[in-house]
Parts: sequence; structure tokens; C-alpha cells
Amino acid sequence: MTQIETHSTVVLTSDQRAAIDRHAEATYPDECCGIMLGRQVDGQRVIERLIEIANEWDSEERRRRFLITDRQYMQAEKQARQAGLDLLGFYHSHPDAPARPSEFDREHAWPFYSYLIAGVADGKTVDLTGWQLRNDRSGYEEIEIQHLQEENQ
Ligand SMILES: [Zn+2]
Repeated sequence: MTQIETHSTVVLTSDQRAAIDRHAEATYPDECCGIMLGRQVDGQRVIERLIEIANEWDSEERRRRFLITDRQYMQAEKQARQAGLDLLGFYHSHPDAPARPSEFDREHAWPFYSYLIAGVADGKTVDLTGWQLRNDRSGYEEIEIQHLQEENQ
């Protein structure tokens, strides 16, 4: 029997999308990174909260990689638990590089989580793509990102 792998669509509000774009532009030419909390609903991952994470690499390395420390991860898990949400994934930016996972990203990714990558060109966010690592870690499946319009605001 073949094991079915689920690669869930990520649902973002337009405000959340704008917040990721702004974060990626604010840290340019360094990579930004953040954690996404939300709920899984009918095979979709509805993001409810974004947590901006300070990139812990030193200034040379920050341009091409991001690091989330165990402490930052555990604090995010705690916030998720308190809010009744799940830690569903991470986002980061690729300054002046394609919005596709690098080899470094693959080595440091875990199955299950959704990974969003913002492509930034000349300080402006131009792209946002979504990825999920295959269970055997051999590579990624691209996932869909749905944008929700804000209601009654
Ligand atoms: Zn990357």
C-alpha cells in the first residue's frame, strides 16, 4: 500500500502576506525568518499568527541563511499551545535569489511543516512560494498559497 503524503495548501490573509513582504524588505539584504501558527482545517493550513524571529546568524551568514534557535522554537510552541493553535511552519526570504529552497534549506527542514520563501529583488519582495519536504527528505513538493481577503475590516 502506498503511503499518501499530504501537502496542504497554506491560507494567508492579505494582511499576513503584506507583513511577510514587509519583513523580508526590512531585513534586506539579510534573510528574514518567522514562524507560522494556525489551524489545520480540511487539508488546509489556515495561518492565524506570524511570529517574526531575529536571525541569529552573524552578519556574514545572515545574507544567505536563517537560523531559528531551540529557544525561539520552544517559545513559539508555547505561544501556540496557549492560543490553542499549532506550529504549522516557517517563512524566510531569499535576498536577490530565486524563491526556491536551497540545499541548506533542505538539510535543515523537517517533513510536516510548511515552508514559505519570499523572493526579494533589489529590496522589494517580488514572489512568495510554498514548499513541503517529502517524508523521505529527498526533495520538496511545491504547495499552493491561497490569499484571503480580509472580512469586515
Ligand atoms: Zn532559504
